Amino acid sequence: MQCVRDANEVAQTNSVLRFIKTKWIVGFVVLIIIFDYFSVTVAVGVGLVTKNRAGGFGLGVTILVVFNVLFLIFCASYAAILFIHPGYITNSFIPAYHPGRAAQNKDKDTDRTGTSNHSNQSDCTTYPPTFRVQATQFDATYCSQCQLWRPPRAHHDRHANRCVWEFDHYCPWIGQSVGGHNHKHFVTFLFWCVVVLSFTAIALGVSYPSLISDEHGDGLWSGRGRGPIIGAIAVSSFFAFFVGGLLFNHIWLACDSLTTFEDMFEVRTIRARDASILSKHYDPWQLQAKKACKDHWYYVWGNPRTEGNLWWLESPYRNWCFRMGANPLVWFVPFAKPHHDLLNVEYNPRFDQWGRARMRSEWPEYLR
Ligand SMILES: [Zn+2]
Repeated sequence: MQCVRDANEVAQTNSVLRFIKTKWIVGFVVLIIIFDYFSVTVAVGVGLVTKNRAGGFGLGVTILVVFNVLFLIFCASYAAILFIHPGYITNSFIPAYHPGRAAQNKDKDTDRTGTSNHSNQSDCTTYPPTFRVQATQFDATYCSQCQLWRPPRAHHDRHANRCVWEFDHYCPWIGQSVGGHNHKHFVTFLFWCVVVLSFTAIALGVSYPSLISDEHGDGLWSGRGRGPIIGAIAVSSFFAFFVGGLLFNHIWLACDSLTTFEDMFEVRTIRARDASILSKHYDPWQLQAKKACKDHWYYVWGNPRTEGNLWWLESPYRNWCFRMGANPLVWFVPFAKPHHDLLNVEYNPRFDQWGRARMRSEWPEYLR
């Protein structure tokens, strides 16, 4: 009995420690948000509106109203990404059974990799066209840690110790992972974050001359008071650039229908393999010949980010809508959720019914 109680206490302590470990940065982010809020409302409110400087009142009220509206939307978007889970997989997913599939995969793999063909011929059409996407990507896989089957694109998230649909990455700033279920909310959060931070930097920058002096040259924020305002402009600008880069990267990935995980481990693997094969056949200075050979492979198999990507849906716009929803009016509305059926995922018709890459000559006629 004592042992059971001890084990329960250890488990509780572990879960509390895990919670603190994953969520402490969220507390830090909340502090930055509070700092940002007060730096604008106090500086502008006290400095421009209450002191009633010439021309400052109208500017101050405008900044306060616009900032508070943007700030409310931003807080809602942060709440959404904090509380909406990434899409943890439960045992309700049952993989489809494909008899004889393993044998077929084996035959196809042997045909298409063909890496034993290391001849010295200079015609790139005889070099081994690389096998673009592993069939396993499309298969259900078994997670031995969660002890359940998971659909394609799912991966084990070691921070939560659970498998996640369309796993993208673990984000310490929100204290959880980004996956198929909350990816839209993540992009929405980044968008509003950039909007609020940019507005803060611009609003403080524009009102800075009025804040530090009045008609008597003795402003509330003159002298030592300048420090916090300059600090707030610097911090807001830094995070606006940092988050802006992240937002740009996620828009780019959404338009390519790739997750960060797939981009880092799958597309990059294909490119590394291409580069390794090319380096065996060409000297380092034969750049043009290497490019011609790579272009030929891309023609035969499709670019690994677009036509050769299993999840590519014909156009960047369609890929974007798949993640963010078909209605542009709700793309950046916090908590609004696109219809995203994770069990019935669409995939690139250039691939066969088992998710294996086909050569251009085998693509459906309208796509060749
Ligand atoms: Zn797992």
